[in-house]
Amino acid sequence: MPGVRQAGGVAELRGVAVWRDGGAVAVPADAPVVTAFDQGLGRGDGAFESVAVVDGGTPHLAAHLQRLRSSARLLELPDPGDAVWHSLLDAVLAAWPADLEGVCRLFLTRGLGEGTPPTALALLAPVPAETLRQRAEGISVVSLGLGVPAAFRAEAPWLLGGAKTLSYAVNMAAQRHAHAIGADDVVFTSLEGQLLEGPTSTVVWAAGGTLHTPPLETGILAGTTMARLFAHAAEDGWPTSVTPGTVADLHAAEAVWLLSGVRGAATVHTLDGVRRGDAGLSARVRELLGR
Ligand code: PLP
Repeated sequence: MPGVRQAGGVAELRGVAVWRDGGAVAVPADAPVVTAFDQGLGRGDGAFESVAVVDGGTPHLAAHLQRLRSSARLLELPDPGDAVWHSLLDAVLAAWPADLEGVCRLFLTRGLGEGTPPTALALLAPVPAETLRQRAEGISVVSLGLGVPAAFRAEAPWLLGGAKTLSYAVNMAAQRHAHAIGADDVVFTSLEGQLLEGPTSTVVWAAGGTLHTPPLETGILAGTTMARLFAHAAEDGWPTSVTPGTVADLHAAEAVWLLSGVRGAATVHTLDGVRRGDAGLSARVRELLGR
C-alpha cells in the first residue's frame, strides 16, 4: 500500500535523470545536475509537466508530452522530442517499485541561454501523503483574484497563457495564502470575477446534469485530466460544456472538483468557508477517470 511505503525511506526512493551528451543519465537524487547559471534556476525560464506514475508506468504520458511541446512552442524553446523524454523516464523508472504511486516531473529549461542546448530533466518521487489525503477526503478551497481581465491573456502572448512554465512562484504563494487562512487550495478568478483555474488544477463543476469547465481563452492551462474526464463522460452520456462561470456558479453547483493528473479529482467540500456537497457524483467522476 502506497501509504505504508511512504512512511519509510522516501528520500532513497527519489530518482533523477538528466539528458547529457546525447543520452539519459541517471544520477543520485541529491547530486548536482545543472549549473547555477541555468536560466531555469535564475528566471524560471522553462516549462514542466507533472506526470502520474501508476503501476510502475505512466498511462497518461502522451497528453503531457503534447502539452510540453505546446509550452515549448509558446516559450520559443527547442523541443528535445518525445524520444528524449521517454529515455529520461525509462532511466528514472527503472528501479521504481510498481506498487508505489509516484509523481514524475519533466523539466525543460533554456539552459545557459542563446545558442546552447536546453536542459532536460526527469525527477521522480513518491506522491506526497498530503496529496493522497486531499484526494481521499476532499478539499477546502478559497477564491482569489489573479488581477487579469478574463479576455486579456488570449491577446497577450508574452504572458504565456496556456503554457505550463516553471514560473510557479505566484501559484505556490497563492496556495500558501490559502493554507494561512485554513484552506487547502485556491480557485483563481479574473478581474471581473470569471472562474479561471487552480494554481495546479482545472476547475470542473456539475450543474443541470452537465459537467462544466472554464474556457481556455481565459489563458488557463489545458488540463489533461479534465480532457480525459470529459471524453469519458461524453462516451457515458454525461454532457460536458466549456462554460464561463463565477464563484456564485460554484456555490450553486451540484458538485465542484479541482482536477489534476497526480491528485486526480479532489472534491471541493468547502468553498470560501461555506460547506458544500457533491450530490454523490464524485464516485462517478473517479470511475470515469479510472477507465
Ligand atoms: N492548471 C494548472 C495551472 C496546473 O498547474 C495544472 C496541473 O498541472 C492543471 C491546471 C491541471 O493539469 P493536468 O490535469 O494536466 O494535471
